Amino acid sequence: MNNIITIDGPGGSGKSTISRMLAERINFLYLDTGAMYRAVALAATREKIDLTDGKKLGGLCKSLDLHFNTDVEPPRLLLGDEDISMAIRGPEMDMLSSEVSAVREVREAMVSLQRKMAKGAKIIAEGRDMGSVVFPEAGHKFFLTASHEVRAERRYRERLERGESVSRGIVEAELRKRDHQDESRSISPLRPAEDAILIDSTDLNPEAVVEKILDLMIVDC
Ligand code: C5P
Repeated sequence: MNNIITIDGPGGSGKSTISRMLAERINFLYLDTGAMYRAVALAATREKIDLTDGKKLGGLCKSLDLHFNTDVEPPRLLLGDEDISMAIRGPEMDMLSSEVSAVREVREAMVSLQRKMAKGAKIIAEGRDMGSVVFPEAGHKFFLTASHEVRAERRYRERLERGESVSRGIVEAELRKRDHQDESRSISPLRPAEDAILIDSTDLNPEAVVEKILDLMIVDC
């Protein structure tokens, strides 16, 4: 199905930047599925729900009124009327979103919502399991990678730009832990779909990665 392009990969692989740039370039909508797991983590924290309690988390997910406002650039994530785009980027949400995303009830609810959001739209779906689980029928699938050092450096810079005071060592250790959690969970672990094209962005800037993806899609058509 050529209306869906999937971009998966670990944290710091550049997938959000690339997905956003690509969506703008080819006039597709950008679906940031990591933001959705972050929203669940935020809501669960506010409701003081134990992050291992699948039943309660499943109930919470069903009650969440989560949607993207794509009329603005960059798109905003709304929980009801509240714009939570900033709140979900807090450093504690990195780890907490990874924790809730390993819970079966949460994944089932989010996958169903993601498919609903994609219905009838042309989208770039970005996440960890877009090509492997959520949209196996996607027309083009990419999996971005980069060396651990480069990914940690990108995350470190992002966090400094957000005004956080954090050490490079902590960012690197947290990224390693989150990668491990995401890769080793039993449901939808982070891994490329069998038919995904791997792109190593270690030595490439975002523009070069976007060009590469566009070239690959032309060849593939
Ligand atoms: O991409 P981002 O860092 O915002 O994702 C936050 C967390 O959400 C990831 O560490 C991962 O555990 C989870 N996630 C997921 N499946 C997706 C997207 C994100 O499990 N499709």
